Amino acid sequence: MVSVKQMWEQIVREIEKKMSALPFDLFISTLEPICVYKEHTLVLLAPTEANLNIISKKHSPFIKEASKKCFPSLSEVEYILNDELPAYEKYRETLQENPPYEQNGKEEQGFYPSYTFENFVVGRSNEYAAAASRAVAEKPGNKYNPLFIYGGVGLGKTHLMHAIGNYFKQNNEKLKVLYVSADKFVFDLIEMFRDGGKGDTKKNFRNTYRNVDCLMIDDVQYLAKRSSVQEELFHTFNDLYLAGKQIIISSDRPPKEIDSLEERLRTRFESGVIADVKQPDLEMRIAILQKMCLAENVNINKDILQIIAEKITENIRDLKGLLTKVISYAPLTSRDYNNIEVVSAALKDYADDKNEIITMERIAENVCVYFNISKEDLLGKKKNKEIVLPRQVCVYLINEFLSVPLTTIGEFFGGRNHTTIMYSRDKVSNLIKENSSVEKQIKDLKDLILKR
Ligand code: ADP
Ligand code: MG
Repeated sequence: MVSVKQMWEQIVREIEKKMSALPFDLFISTLEPICVYKEHTLVLLAPTEANLNIISKKHSPFIKEASKKCFPSLSEVEYILNDELPAYEKYRETLQENPPYEQNGKEEQGFYPSYTFENFVVGRSNEYAAAASRAVAEKPGNKYNPLFIYGGVGLGKTHLMHAIGNYFKQNNEKLKVLYVSADKFVFDLIEMFRDGGKGDTKKNFRNTYRNVDCLMIDDVQYLAKRSSVQEELFHTFNDLYLAGKQIIISSDRPPKEIDSLEERLRTRFESGVIADVKQPDLEMRIAILQKMCLAENVNINKDILQIIAEKITENIRDLKGLLTKVISYAPLTSRDYNNIEVVSAALKDYADDKNEIITMERIAENVCVYFNISKEDLLGKKKNKEIVLPRQVCVYLINEFLSVPLTTIGEFFGGRNHTTIMYSRDKVSNLIKENSSVEKQIKDLKDLILKR
């Protein structure tokens, strides 16, 4: 059984890999995990309002990404303050009784109860993947083996895998099923290697992975390029396959487009059935929203659902997110979800979140938060190195993102000469080549600015 605390510890380790120590200590380490709400939202308690604002504005992309990486079904992260705690109290208890990731024996993870075939809307964009998944659920290890599902983010790959898992749980209880993310596979493997690849850990690893009737590996595009990892997966695959066990793989792209994949694994993955999930058309998006309204027990007119469905075309997770926003915007007292004003306010807010334009200001603000310095210092004349590097980085980023003349950048930095600006820019581009930690900082900052 994994508690929300253990989940958070795993997520924090992931965040730590990608964030520099300062913002990590100042912000991430102050958060306290509270519960998982509605199976997909991790709720975190922030110590102060200021802290919450900075975290949700600047660090939330990292947190979200890391959460999803560790627990694929965690698609949202919510930040709350102490006074909101009572509202979540009851979920805290449900979680302890009934954790979303239940471990059964060795690292076996449970499946999200709501990710079922019944809750999965089938349309042109996913009918083959849905039919193949159903066939696998009904007859594992048979015709559709391995099953390789691919498609963009938020289009239902994880949902389908969990649906198969839930089906087994209901209809084929004895079947041993293991669902892992590719990261988790690699993580377990590295643990085994760390131990010298001998003895108990090796036995445990092989027991875990080769002793199952169905192995599901989610997001295999994240599989490390390391040949030892690929080798182990190759043997795991062969062992299971030859024993007639079912293998299900998902990825954001087809096998032939996964660069990190060795040829022999690619051939294995291509040897069964490859099914894709595409972007849903308008009609299907409306059907998904209708299904969600039914599940949430809210009554929203089709016209309004259509407005929502027209806004979001690419990603079912975002589509559901926007509906949740609309629901949460309706005043608690009236629960009038069909009020067009409420809906427009929610939509506007959503659009603002998504499409903030990049400006010199915005880049500077991100740099300040990232390095924890004031804007006054960033744009001012101080020459100590804690300030100078962030300043040069900021110049570099402005150059990367915006096509503004060097003189304009100079003015922005309190009237500096364009040669100084040029020097800063070139200094950082050289540093990136020489110093991998600077390279990583720049990448982090770009992600922050783009809110990825
Ligand atoms: P992926 O793994 O492809 O990134 P997920 O399976 O996590 O996407 O799906 C994202 C969200 O969208 C989940 O909440 C899932 O339940 C929902 N979803 C995806 N496809 C469908 C569908 N066809 N019908 C209903 N909900 C769906
Ligand atoms: Mg997924």
